[in-house]
Amino acid sequence: MSNHEKLYTPVQGKTYSLFAEGDDSERYYTEIKRLADAFLQRCPDEKRLLGLIQKVGKKPFLLGWKTTEADRKTLQFVRETLRQSLSIYTQNVSEHLKSLPLAKRADSTLATTEEKYHLYMLEIELVNRIYREEFKRADYKFALIAHCLRDFRPDCRSVKGDIEAVCRGCTEDCFIRLGSVLLEKYGIKPYISVEMDQERLFRRLKQEHPRIGALGIACIPELAMGMRLCIRTGIPPVGIPLNANRCARWMSQAHETSFNLEQLEELLR
Ligand code: SF4
Repeated sequence: MSNHEKLYTPVQGKTYSLFAEGDDSERYYTEIKRLADAFLQRCPDEKRLLGLIQKVGKKPFLLGWKTTEADRKTLQFVRETLRQSLSIYTQNVSEHLKSLPLAKRADSTLATTEEKYHLYMLEIELVNRIYREEFKRADYKFALIAHCLRDFRPDCRSVKGDIEAVCRGCTEDCFIRLGSVLLEKYGIKPYISVEMDQERLFRRLKQEHPRIGALGIACIPELAMGMRLCIRTGIPPVGIPLNANRCARWMSQAHETSFNLEQLEELLR
């Protein structure tokens, strides 16, 4: 077995897996980039397309600006094309939603619909395209890496850092260590995300570092929400989704997961 195969063991998440039925997530990235290119042919303004897909499911009076007939047709095309192209990655969503206890249905992350997953996938790709250069120009860049990438390691030696926990690199193939090494190479301070009140954290950091950029590595709904929060706070965000959602919040206990390190490096180059 090659190092690459060993590193990227295909896994199924509670709702999604970027491996789908393959042995790595490269095909997913090729597909989401192809889809974004196709949609931008119809709607060349990236920010307008982002605004359109973020408003799906919201009441017309909340749109903030008028949707035209052309917008409606674009959205219809986007939704249908995403459904046809991305369902292979979200095969477990309907089963998860059927078994979600009533008490947990108010949790918008756990209750994310299959269509929302597809829209979030496109949203993450568009946000990366829109904010990548501004992120790279920031004087202070930090990354929040989902703690579930090391949750199952009882002997994790991470320590409290200045804003969040910091990896001590105790285990060779831990994805938090691998991600942290890569992020540091590009001048980005890596942290393990444990803070629940991210809004307060982002506001504080924005005050301390006016030219700041944020990078997130998290499951799809959390990453999309974190990116929105950054944009509202005036912080240019970029991010990479986990290959599958397998933490204790989704499953009864935490299971090993991963993210695409090659795509992270491509984003930072
Ligand atoms: S490599 Fe870092 S995150 Fe992973 S178990 Fe060790 S200290 Fe924790």
